[in-house]
Amino acid sequence: MNINRWIRDIADFPKPGIDFKDLTPLMGDAEGFAAAIGQLVDPFRGHGITRICGIEARGFIFGAAAALALGCGLVPLRKPGKLPGARIGVEYALEYGNDRLEMHADALRAGERVLIVDDVLATGGTLAAAVDLVAQGGGEIVGAAVVIELAALKGRSRWSRASPLHSVVVYD
Ligand code: AMP
Repeated sequence: MNINRWIRDIADFPKPGIDFKDLTPLMGDAEGFAAAIGQLVDPFRGHGITRICGIEARGFIFGAAAALALGCGLVPLRKPGKLPGARIGVEYALEYGNDRLEMHADALRAGERVLIVDDVLATGGTLAAAVDLVAQGGGEIVGAAVVIELAALKGRSRWSRASPLHSVVVYD
C-alpha cells in the first residue's frame, strides 16, 4: 500500500523555507497508520531486536507502535531536561537549529540489539546523534527506520554503518 496519500506538505513551517512533512493525517488513519508501521518494521523482523530507540517527539509515536509490532521494548531519546534519571547526552545540529538528545544512562544493557526509529530523515544530524548516544549507552545498532527520507538533504551520506537504514517513503 502506498502511504503517500496520508502525508501532507506544510510550506514554511516551522520557519520560512522549510517544507514540513506533516504525518498527522497518516497517524489519524487506522489503515494508513497500520500500513506505515508494517512497512517500517518489516525489514527488521527476525533480526532479534530487543529495543527500539525512538527519537523525540514523533519518533516516540512511530517507535512505540513499532515496538509493539516487533514485540520489543521502547527507549525514549529525549530533548534536554525531560528524563528524570541519570542521563548521557549528545549535541547535534538540526535542519532548523541546534539541539541535544539524552537517554537514561541505564536504559540499555550491554549488547542490546537496537533499532533506531524516527519520522523524518533530513540532514541526518539527528540520526547521527542517536547513533552516538545508543553506542555510548552500550547498544548494538541493528539498523534505523524512518517513515520519510528527504533524499535531497543527503542525510543518508552520514550513515556510515554496514547495518541497514530503511525508509518507507523517499522524496527527491
Ligand atoms: P535532520 O537532523 O536534519 O535529519 O532532521 C530530522 C529531524 O527533524 C526529525 O526528527 C524530524 O522530525 C525533523 N524534521 C526535519 N526536517 C523536517 C521536515 N521537512 N518535515 C518534518 N520534520 C522534519
